[in-house]
Amino acid sequence: MGQQSEGETIVAGRECGTCSMCCKLPGIPYLDPPKPPGQWCRHCRPGRGCDIWSSRPDGCIRFNCDWRKNARLGDEWRPDRCGFLLTRTSETSPYEVLVEPAKPDAWRKEPYYSGLRRVAAIVAEHGFPVVVAAGSRRWVLLPDREVVISSEHLASGLRIFRDIAAPGQPWQIEFIPGS
Ligand code: SF4
Ligand code: SF4
Repeated sequence: MGQQSEGETIVAGRECGTCSMCCKLPGIPYLDPPKPPGQWCRHCRPGRGCDIWSSRPDGCIRFNCDWRKNARLGDEWRPDRCGFLLTRTSETSPYEVLVEPAKPDAWRKEPYYSGLRRVAAIVAEHGFPVVVAAGSRRWVLLPDREVVISSEHLASGLRIFRDIAAPGQPWQIEFIPGS
């Protein structure tokens, strides 16, 4: 949906084409009215694009999913092909896997699941987790396992850590209420 912003690199040839998944999968708070996750934006004509393209909000202009920015993700990772979208809201937020509600198991299929575990291993070393969102269900994907996020923690922030003085120790999760 976006265009290249300053300081951002789009991989050559990574065109959105008929994909409009970023107009459906994320919640978009700056739209009027705000759009909930997993529902089409009222301005989107799936497969054809945005009805208000020339006047779409700045947030839409700036947004590019990770498939457009990350050369290590092959063409099969385009969101309308794989059934989920990879993105990160900010430098301090988790790496998000937003799954198409009609294909809730898309992220568990191969080669995606193995690829996501590798992503989890990379981002964990930088101190942040991968969170998978499929409908109302959430998981933290760790390099060594996945953990269901219970309903009591859905609104919490989280961090992951492990004891670097004891090699081989499993990753731990801390939920941070109200953050
Ligand atoms: S999800 Fe990615 S590939 Fe699809 S329309 Fe949005 S930015 Fe383009
Ligand atoms: S305003 Fe346009 S670009 Fe933005 S979410 Fe809606 S359809 Fe997509």
